[in-house]
Amino acid sequence: MAGRFLKAAGWAFTIGAVAAIAVAERRRPLRRQTLPAAPRVARNLVMGAMCQAVIAAVENPATRAVARANATRQRGLMHWLGGGAVGKAAAFLAMDYGFFLWHVATHKVPFLWRLHRVHHVDPDMDASTALRFHFADMAVSLPWRLVQVRLSGVDEPTLRRWQQFFVLSVLFHHANIRLPGRWEKRLARIVTTPAMHGVHHDRRLQWMDSNWSSGIALWDHLHGTYRADLPVEQSVIGVADADAMADVPLLPALAAPVRHVGGRGGGRA
Ligand SMILES: [Zn+2]
Repeated sequence: MAGRFLKAAGWAFTIGAVAAIAVAERRRPLRRQTLPAAPRVARNLVMGAMCQAVIAAVENPATRAVARANATRQRGLMHWLGGGAVGKAAAFLAMDYGFFLWHVATHKVPFLWRLHRVHHVDPDMDASTALRFHFADMAVSLPWRLVQVRLSGVDEPTLRRWQQFFVLSVLFHHANIRLPGRWEKRLARIVTTPAMHGVHHDRRLQWMDSNWSSGIALWDHLHGTYRADLPVEQSVIGVADADAMADVPLLPALAAPVRHVGGRGGGRA
């Protein structure tokens, strides 16, 4: 009964958060959009649905099986720290830090960049950009995701909590929302904010190679990769290689990882 209530409360919170993001995007936009919204959003929704199919069919069963084995075999960081609240918090942080490292790799390893580039090619950024990933990206990232789950020792409930936090964080920091200045600064110490992540989506590598965090912002502060010195009026969202705009529509985007073999483009302007 309590489990069912918590599940319903979780859904209500998620739906409320998505609605709040949608309202805030209309009321307080951060960036001026360059393309008509409807086809962009429709395309991003289709790509998100394809990713979700891979996650539901492959990633979730695999990660949850490893998480269940962590609990029965008492293994990984969470159990080394006693398996209580401290262990769970450490496992949660370890999952998040593991994703930070993966995100850096998706930019620095040419094969992984071909897939992650499809996400960055979107020349506008809003909550729908959070859905725009290549479905093959989900499959290719699975081995590392399993390493994260195994080493963190995360159990299934804590894994679900991190996944829920992570999905909401990704929707939030891609959203086209201008936060009040004080909020932006304070929040960016803790979690990834829209302005913070907007710097990472700039075409120029000097900006793109910063603000790698996707959940907790601490990792950029610890690594010295946090940047907040690019005014939003001067940011240019997207990728600077020659094929970038041609790879925005759905079918070219799906073919892009095979077709586009160039480097990262976007010199240090
Ligand atoms: Zn990225």
